[in-house]
Amino acid sequence: MYDLLIKNGLIIDGTGSAPYRADVAVRDSDIAVIGQVEGESHKTIDAGGQVVSPGFIDLHTHSDLSFLLDPTAQSKVRQGVTLELAGNCGSSFCAPLQGMTHELLQSRVSQYTETFTPTWSDFGGYLDAVQRAGATLNLAVQVGHGTVRSCVLGMEARAASAAELERMKTLVAESLDAGAMGFSTGLFYTPGSYAGLEEVIDLAAVAAARRKLYSTHMRDEGSHNVGLFVALNEAIEIGRRTGIRVQISHVKCMGPAVWGRAGDVLDLFERTRREGIDLAGDQYPYLAGSTSLTGALFPRWALEGGRDATLRRLGHTQDRRQLHADITANFRKWSDPEGITIARFVPDSHFEGMNMVQIAAELGCDPAEAALRLYARAEAAVIARAMQDADVEAIACHPLIAVGSDGSSLAASGVLSVGKPHPRSYGTNPRFLAQFVRQRRLMSLPEAIRKMTTLPASRLGLTRRGRLAPGYAADLVVFDPDTIADPATFEAPHSYPTGVAHVAVNGVLVVEHGAFTGCTPGKVIRSFAD
Ligand SMILES: [Zn+2]
Repeated sequence: MYDLLIKNGLIIDGTGSAPYRADVAVRDSDIAVIGQVEGESHKTIDAGGQVVSPGFIDLHTHSDLSFLLDPTAQSKVRQGVTLELAGNCGSSFCAPLQGMTHELLQSRVSQYTETFTPTWSDFGGYLDAVQRAGATLNLAVQVGHGTVRSCVLGMEARAASAAELERMKTLVAESLDAGAMGFSTGLFYTPGSYAGLEEVIDLAAVAAARRKLYSTHMRDEGSHNVGLFVALNEAIEIGRRTGIRVQISHVKCMGPAVWGRAGDVLDLFERTRREGIDLAGDQYPYLAGSTSLTGALFPRWALEGGRDATLRRLGHTQDRRQLHADITANFRKWSDPEGITIARFVPDSHFEGMNMVQIAAELGCDPAEAALRLYARAEAAVIARAMQDADVEAIACHPLIAVGSDGSSLAASGVLSVGKPHPRSYGTNPRFLAQFVRQRRLMSLPEAIRKMTTLPASRLGLTRRGRLAPGYAADLVVFDPDTIADPATFEAPHSYPTGVAHVAVNGVLVVEHGAFTGCTPGKVIRSFAD
């Protein structure tokens, strides 16, 4: 007797090998048989010749908070995503919180709700809270360098003392031992940008000793500070010196200064691997990124000390003049002020969806001044156009690049349905399959599925997920490769994908005949064999 039987599927097993017709039988939460299955099942689904593949693993998300506010994760499971890795870009803002003022967590929370009080301070307590909240999909979380650094040094722009470094190492070790599946940095952002290479190496070594992943939002992906290639070499050096698996997050050529350089980036990836360093990357299939207003535009000197200190600088004539000049220059490093759009602005949602030229016109000032006036009221989330098609395509096609959204688990109704967030939270995987496989024929369907399944599973070190094979966890998606698509746009992002028929997490259907079931079989992943 099986628990779930999917008949008449076209099996794409995640390894990149050719499709074949078979049934998939699930017992308990694992795949029991793949083949011609005779026998009874509590639940039987006819796939009708549609593709059956492993559930998609999204290596790059910021869903740290999502499950505590709304565990349904519908923007992800409706794409076929069954496992997310959060805690990226140096920001595991929910934990650890030891020694922290909670400013970073509150800045995230305030986008969605006014009242939220964490009941934990350490990483293990946070993971327990997520598991108690219940989730539709499986969640793994990394411990973030920026979060750990703010626990110990606040937002101070200086090197750590020996004692502070030891304290950070302890927090990283405790978090990893409590179930963090990797260590991430966001060296582009404060406070990560205040750390030098040696600090990161010392902390990454703590994760390397536990065979966990190192994910990095590099110090620069364009021409903001040291430059894309110096930053990539810094990430490589961390792999060279510690032996850790290095994951370059959201690989891109950001801004006019590096447009057309994707081939050079990928050549460096290959040379690095030939040297014996285990380096790979992930990417979202869009021409725009998304981050905070300050992260995108404000010079890092102006963010030292946190929001109150930054606001004081806005009131100081000399500082404000310098800020204005730096922000004006920073617009050009993405593309132009028209390419920067407000995604979320709590004090005045009518700015959401407007670009900085439109906002400046309304306020009767220039775009840099408009950015300063918005920030004086509150931090904002922005979408920033900064990439070119040719680079995005070249990166997408490379076998070392996984598909990762850089989005969050959201939902089209409820507390997470606010603002005009980047549509990647709703569309990444279907868009990749629709645009890059079906329309542009950049790669085969099995290769695209490999980038969403076995490749990300291997980066994380997971031994029981990402593949259709007996004994593996029954995370499955059934979709129509001829119709799968992403209706979510920048104008109307809260739209669910089409063409995804069924999704099972740990053997339980969370999407059935295209409808959300409300089940929460997701698990917090704390070890390689989970
Ligand atoms: Zn990032």
